[in-house]
Amino acid sequence: MTPGNANSPDRGEAAPGAATGSGVASDELNALRDDLVAANRILVRQGVLDAFGHVSSRVAPGMDRFLLSGNLAPGSVTASDLLVHDLEATTSAERSLYLERFIHAEIYRRRPDVMAIVHSHSASVIPLGVTSTPLLPIIHMAGFLPTSGTAVFEISDHAGDASDLLITSSSLGASLAEALGDDAVILMRGHGSVAVGASLPEAVYRAVYTEVNARTQLQALALGTPRYLSSGEASTAARSVGGQTARAWNVWREEARPTTAE
Ligand SMILES: [Zn+2]
Repeated sequence: MTPGNANSPDRGEAAPGAATGSGVASDELNALRDDLVAANRILVRQGVLDAFGHVSSRVAPGMDRFLLSGNLAPGSVTASDLLVHDLEATTSAERSLYLERFIHAEIYRRRPDVMAIVHSHSASVIPLGVTSTPLLPIIHMAGFLPTSGTAVFEISDHAGDASDLLITSSSLGASLAEALGDDAVILMRGHGSVAVGASLPEAVYRAVYTEVNARTQLQALALGTPRYLSSGEASTAARSVGGQTARAWNVWREEARPTTAE
């Protein structure tokens, strides 16, 4: 974990009413902005985000505010593009916002333990959201996936059969958050997935390894009948491997650092 990391527990102790309008001191918010810019770049480099998708971070534990970029491709996001959103998914900035910002608002509303959220359209998870084959943990890095099968959000149950499949309202966001329940990941049929974490590094790690696990599962299914992680293996691996997310975060953050040529 890098110094001044986005989700350190002491962030919640900053005096409300600071000049940032977010309820935390400006230096803490700036550190969080730097981490979130890095998260955007990491997720692009890792093939989780492309021109679409987004990553957010709750401003501080227990706070009903989160940082999310304005409507930009993730690879283009800079610190000044990151806007404080409330749980109505509104901001004080007069600029275009992500259509699906309600995903973030409603999951933060329902899950006080969640400090960061990644929504992506990464390709390998899609087949596992549109068939009867569930996404299951098949590699030790993905023990956070449920061994009973990762939930799939069926948007037509909530938006009818002629929607654009996007989460464009608080109501749809709330339905998605309810379907996620207490899990780490949910798939969205014909659309993508959402990964959440108790820190920004954890959410990024889970988003990356959800994609890697899905890709590996598809490869294994092409060869034969895979042996998936048992329930015991998944929970043990989630504790031991998942406890090392800082190592992945630190190296990915370094790799994603802008060069002077950029
Ligand atoms: Zn989407």
